[in-house]
Amino acid sequence: MQHVSNSRRSLLKFLGLTGSAVALGGPTFAAKHFSFGKPSVTGHGILDDAPYKLPDLPYAFNALEPHIDAQTMQIHHDKHHAKYVSNLNDALAKEPSLKDKKLEELLTNVKGLPDTVRTAIRNNGGGHYNHTFFWMILSPEKQEPTGKLADAIKRDFGTTDDFKKQFSEAATKVFGSGWAWLVKNGDKLSIVTTPNQDNPIMDVSENKGTPVLGVDVWEHAYYLKYKNVRADYLGAFWNVVNWKKVGEFYEA
Ligand code: MN
Repeated sequence: MQHVSNSRRSLLKFLGLTGSAVALGGPTFAAKHFSFGKPSVTGHGILDDAPYKLPDLPYAFNALEPHIDAQTMQIHHDKHHAKYVSNLNDALAKEPSLKDKKLEELLTNVKGLPDTVRTAIRNNGGGHYNHTFFWMILSPEKQEPTGKLADAIKRDFGTTDDFKKQFSEAATKVFGSGWAWLVKNGDKLSIVTTPNQDNPIMDVSENKGTPVLGVDVWEHAYYLKYKNVRADYLGAFWNVVNWKKVGEFYEA
């Protein structure tokens, strides 16, 4: 029981939920869908157990308007993310030996997965991890980096605007579908990109690190509103970044 209690407490802290959520006693959206372990060198303990479930968004579909439109958010979450989750569960159902593995264990050991499910877990486990992470680092509230994170950005990139420019350029240049990430290795920050649903915690990724910020540049993330102009979507993205959460990931 103590273990469960500690896990739940760290989960609530991780999500930035206040004491009032605990006092109410009812399960939060996150408590229903995730259990969080200690942050590891490779990830944040986004470690829900199979069978995996689609987490609720921590805000309404229209909360990020006008920067990201409600229809895009709804389709992105209810259709795309949901499909990654169901495909991941389908793959795991074929390999009982994997049923007790945490998501991060699977993704940090793609090379060691059985041939029968390796690609499905890489793509759909990655999709589940990446989208769960992405929803967390978005917020309806306009914010800017502060504290240790702001200091690290200044140290590694120059001004916050310099960083945003470099990150947006990297994200714009991703050919086809993929992601751009701000990752930490130790306390050092760097900008990396990954194709498809790969991410920097994967052993198969050329660019490794612990994600602290990420942006989905698949067309499904922006096409309804921004059509083919990915750069406009990336410009709008900065209005909805949850820098408080990014700072927590950096300091974790
Ligand atoms: Mn997506």
